[in-house]
Amino acid sequence: MITKDAELPEYFRVYANVDLDQIRENVQNMKRHTKPGTLMLAVIKADGYGHGAVPIARTLNGIADWFATATIQEALNLRHHGITEPILILGHVPASAYPAMVEAEIRCAVYDYDMAKAISDAAISANRQAYIHIKTDTGMGRIGFAPTRESAAVTAKIANLPNLCIEGCFTHFAKADETDKSHVRGQFAKFRQFLDYLEEVHVRPRICHCANSAAILDLPEMHMDMVRAGIALYGLRPSADEEIAKLDLKPALSLYSHVIYVKEIPAGTGISYGSTFIAPKPMRVATIPVGYADGYPRSLSNRGYVLIHGKRAAILGRVCMDQMIVDVTEIPDVRIGTKVTLIGTDGAEEIQTDQLGDLSGRFNYELVCDLGKRIPRVYYKDGAVCGTKDYFTDEYL
Ligand SMILES: *Cc1c(COP(=O)(O)O)cnc(C)c1O
Repeated sequence: MITKDAELPEYFRVYANVDLDQIRENVQNMKRHTKPGTLMLAVIKADGYGHGAVPIARTLNGIADWFATATIQEALNLRHHGITEPILILGHVPASAYPAMVEAEIRCAVYDYDMAKAISDAAISANRQAYIHIKTDTGMGRIGFAPTRESAAVTAKIANLPNLCIEGCFTHFAKADETDKSHVRGQFAKFRQFLDYLEEVHVRPRICHCANSAAILDLPEMHMDMVRAGIALYGLRPSADEEIAKLDLKPALSLYSHVIYVKEIPAGTGISYGSTFIAPKPMRVATIPVGYADGYPRSLSNRGYVLIHGKRAAILGRVCMDQMIVDVTEIPDVRIGTKVTLIGTDGAEEIQTDQLGDLSGRFNYELVCDLGKRIPRVYYKDGAVCGTKDYFTDEYL
């Protein structure tokens, strides 16, 4: 039974709210910014950048045309939960998983002839058609065929493999999020060149795509047949050089906890490991039951803050594995059970993931992906809880 989050006692310590309506709105706002007919692929790898891939995929049913994951397990999990849209795996799929991949009509990036041959073999065995997307490396230096005539010749050989369809061709940008767009323009030119080479050997993939969030925002001329929205989907920015507010994209995730202890301390009291904070005066401090084991950055020791009663409470001393201490000297009426905002808004104050990233010296993408398994996720739709995800469900014989 799903009830209001605050009523669930197991969610007292810490919980993340994910506003699915906001994610839907972010996708709609991005779609408005692409030309009609452009396919929208939602990148929900790493469990939807820590937000939760399944509820997001369900929310985006009929809004996003495609989904992408990094691994076969992530893709199969979406199928398991009834997601029927096309899914593209952006990373590597081990050959042992090709039969399952073909069976579930999941597409993958192909960047090697033998890979294509083995997928074709799996498709023949299953008496099915397999679909692949040729990946070309135009300057990311990660995976992909070099964008050359030779690679085009190999691709033509792949195109002749039985039960295999080259449905797409794509590349990935290394520096689309930077103000200086010369590198991304160079990559785009190489990609176009490679597509011309493919054309020469009569390979014409139906879906050519290269735009990540940064290119969706800044480079409409690179949207091509499909765009791949990752970080922007979640209302987070691709980099400090990017302005996501121009498309009215807003964060969907907030993180809450409750105070578990409050005390007065005299001047000279040391706080937390190493006593890196010593109270310069008598203070009132509160303990929060969240720490780096939850993915909350330890680098926020002595520099971060949380929000309590709409005011900033500075983190005192080191963030521990499971607890941290904050200054509530100037915040009245703080007691055991008082709500604490770690990410989100409280009254006029706000601390969002992007700012927490800046403050902690950690990458905003990393921060949300690393939000720990100890943090239950609570999903909201139309202002009401529509689902929860708790990671402590394993069972052993
Ligand atoms: C992760 C990823 C994306 C999404 O990138 P964002 O910067 O989050 O938009 C797009 N394409 C590929 C190949 C990726 O690996």
